[in-house]
Amino acid sequence: MIEFKNVTKIYEDGDVLALDDVSFKVEKGEFVFLVGPSGAGKSTITELIIKEELLTSGDIIVNNMSLSSLPDKKIPYLRRNIGMVFQDFRLLPNKTVYENVAFAMQVIGASSRAIRRTVPGVLSMVGLSHKADMKPSQLSGGEQQRVSLARAMVNRPPVIIADEPTGNLDPENAQEIMNLLEDINQKGTTMIVATHAKNFVDTMQKRVLAIEHGKLVRDEERGAYGYEA
Ligand code: ADP
Repeated sequence: MIEFKNVTKIYEDGDVLALDDVSFKVEKGEFVFLVGPSGAGKSTITELIIKEELLTSGDIIVNNMSLSSLPDKKIPYLRRNIGMVFQDFRLLPNKTVYENVAFAMQVIGASSRAIRRTVPGVLSMVGLSHKADMKPSQLSGGEQQRVSLARAMVNRPPVIIADEPTGNLDPENAQEIMNLLEDINQKGTTMIVATHAKNFVDTMQKRVLAIEHGKLVRDEERGAYGYEA
């Protein structure tokens, strides 16, 4: 599903070696935590997977596509297959909850009929049917993150990547988001979650990939966070 083959990433700007010969494979249906200190290279991994950044050497395979040889015109197709969730939600402030989720379908050319049929079910899954007509500013952080999760899953991507999804949330809302990520994973979506949330990593017993100074230093089935919080 996603494979890093000896991936090295150097940011020309500042001459930073952000990833150093990183190799790992994530199979379909897995739930993987990506942990490591700030600056270790976790976001770089995410950005390389969606080809927002270009790798320096090695290759990344995403759903059988080799990113080193993927033509730019195929990038929208690549991104369509990956749902993204960010720490800062990145919702459209002037659209309602419903419209934020519907918009993700519009941009890939879904019919209005398909949108009307799909969006309510996804909002219901994240527990936000009753807030469909509200704007993001009227919601709590936890609710906003649930909207962004609905948006990430509405096109049924085979993989969702969440970059610090609970970073701005209180413990209760963070727990809800982690529960939802686990539910979505159990329905078959591959889940990659970069996080500093030690307590969740330690209790959820998922595979842990640990990155330090751009190197993969640990890959454990049912691992622990492994750092002081
Ligand atoms: P993490 O997500 O684990 O905090 P990042 O992947 O953001 O780490 O960063 C890894 C390293 O690459 C850091 O040293 C960071 O300063 C550097 N870096 C990240 N993005 C850029 C960029 N666009 N230009 C230059 N250096 C960058």
